[in-house]
Amino acid sequence: MIKKDIKQFQMVDTPMEEIPKIHTSLRETFSSRKTFPIAYRQHQLLQIARMLQENHETFSEAIFADLEITGVGGEKSYVEHPDLAEPQKVWRPKIVPTPKGAVLVISPWNYPLILSIQATIGAIAAGCTVCLKLSEVTSNYAGCLQQLLPKYLDQDMIRIVCGGVAEITKVLELKWDHIFYTGNGMVARIISAAAAKHLTPLTLELGGKSPVIVDPKCDLELAAKRTLWGKVTNSGQICVSPDYVLLPPSALTGYLNGLKKAYQEMYPAEQGGALKSESYAHSINLQHFKRVKALLEKTNGKILMGGRMDEEELKIEPTVVLVKEGDVLLEAETFGPILTVVELEEEGFVRKACDWISDRDHPLVLYLFSTDEEIQKEVRRYTTSGGLVFNDTFMQLDCKVLPFGGVGESGYGRQHLAQTFEIFSYERSTVDIPAAAEPKIALRYPPYTEHSFNI
Ligand code: NAD
Repeated sequence: MIKKDIKQFQMVDTPMEEIPKIHTSLRETFSSRKTFPIAYRQHQLLQIARMLQENHETFSEAIFADLEITGVGGEKSYVEHPDLAEPQKVWRPKIVPTPKGAVLVISPWNYPLILSIQATIGAIAAGCTVCLKLSEVTSNYAGCLQQLLPKYLDQDMIRIVCGGVAEITKVLELKWDHIFYTGNGMVARIISAAAAKHLTPLTLELGGKSPVIVDPKCDLELAAKRTLWGKVTNSGQICVSPDYVLLPPSALTGYLNGLKKAYQEMYPAEQGGALKSESYAHSINLQHFKRVKALLEKTNGKILMGGRMDEEELKIEPTVVLVKEGDVLLEAETFGPILTVVELEEEGFVRKACDWISDRDHPLVLYLFSTDEEIQKEVRRYTTSGGLVFNDTFMQLDCKVLPFGGVGESGYGRQHLAQTFEIFSYERSTVDIPAAAEPKIALRYPPYTEHSFNI
C-alpha cells in the first residue's frame, strides 16, 4: 500500500484540555496589540517563507507520503506589499483596514500545504492571531508542520491544533473572530451552526460538481486534452476538477478521440498507463478509493475509456463514463478520476446546457470550451458559478489577480493574496470632526426653533 505514515512526522493530537488555553493565549496576544506593527507581520511572513525554503525537502517528503507535491510560491508576494495594511487615503475620513482578532483556519487534506498556509498568510498579514486546525487525513503533513512551525513563528501569535472530530468540535465551541473553512458542504453546515452561536463571520471554500460545456464547433481535440489534464491532476481530488461534461451528440466522437489521444500521450499504454505512472496520484486513502470504486460499480453508464484500478496502490485509471440524467455519477461531487459525460440535444444545445447547470447547485467553477463570443456571453448570462473559465481547466488558479471562491452551495467569500488579507480585516470607518466645524453644525443643538429646520 502506497500511503504510509512516516514516524518522523508523527502527528500528535492536541490534548483536549489544551484547546481552551490556546484560545485564551491567542486572545491575550491579540489584545496586547503585539501583532499590529507592520514590521512584526512582515517578519512572521518572511519566517513562513524561510520555513518553506529551508525545509522544502522535508515538506515534499511528508506530502508525497500523504498524496502529492505542491507549493505556495505566489503567496510570498505579501511580504513585498506591506502597504496593504496602511490606511487608505480618503479625504479626512479614513477607512482603516483593521485586524478582526483571534481567527480560526480549518484546512482540508487535498493540497494540505497551500490550503493551510494561504489563509494563514492572509490572517498574519492582516494582523490577526491564528488557530490553525489541520486535516487529520494528511497526518504526515500535519505532523511535519506541527514540528516545524514553532521553530519559525511566534507561538503567541499562531498555534496549530491537530486531531479529529472531537478536537475540532471543542475548538468550535469557543468564540473566534473569523472562521475560514475549506472542505465539504456537509461539514460546512456544522461549522456554520457553530459560528452562528457567536455571530462569527465565516468564509466557506467548498466544492461541488464543476461542469464543462463543449461547443461542437470548438477544437475538440484541444478541449479534450485540456479537460483531461484538469481531471488527472491530483487524480481528480481538487475542488475545481472538471466533474462532468455536457456536449451534443455531434461532438462526442471527436471529443472522445481527443481524450484517448491525450491519455496515450500523458500515460503511454506501453508503459502501463496511468496505473503504473509516477505522474499520477493515488486516492488519498482506502476509504476514498472504495467510495470512487463503488460509484463505478453503481453507475448505469457506459464506460468509454479507462475503468481499471489497483487497490494495492489505491489508483483508479482516469475513467470516462457516458451517462443519462438520474445516474448516480451525477449526484454528488466525484472528487476522483471519473469524468462523466452527458449528451444534450443538438437543437439549442448551449441554452439547454445552461438550463441544466442552473437547475442544480451553483458550481465552484464552470468551464466552457468555445471561442464564439456569443456563446460565451450566453453562458455568462444564463448560469451562476463561483468562476467562469473559457477554453481551459484549472489554470484560473494561477491567475492570482482573480479572486477565488464559490457561490451558493460552493461556498462564499473570496481568497488569493489581497482578498485573503481583506477576509481577516474589516474596514473601520474613522472620522475626526475638528472644533473648527462648530459654527457649521451649531444648529443641531437644542433648543430647536422654527429656524433650526428652515435651512
Ligand atoms: P477533510 O475531511 O480534511 O475535512 C476538512 C476539515 O474539516 C478538516 O480539518 C477536518 O478536521 C474538519 N472536519 C471533518 N469533520 C468535521 C466535523 N464533523 N466537524 C467539524 N469539522 C470537521 O476534507 P474534505 O472536506 O473531504 O475536503 C474535500 C472537500 O473540500 C471537497 O468537497 C472539495 O471540493 C473541497 N475543497 C474546496 C476548496 C476550495 O478552495 N473551494 C479547496 C479544497 C477542497
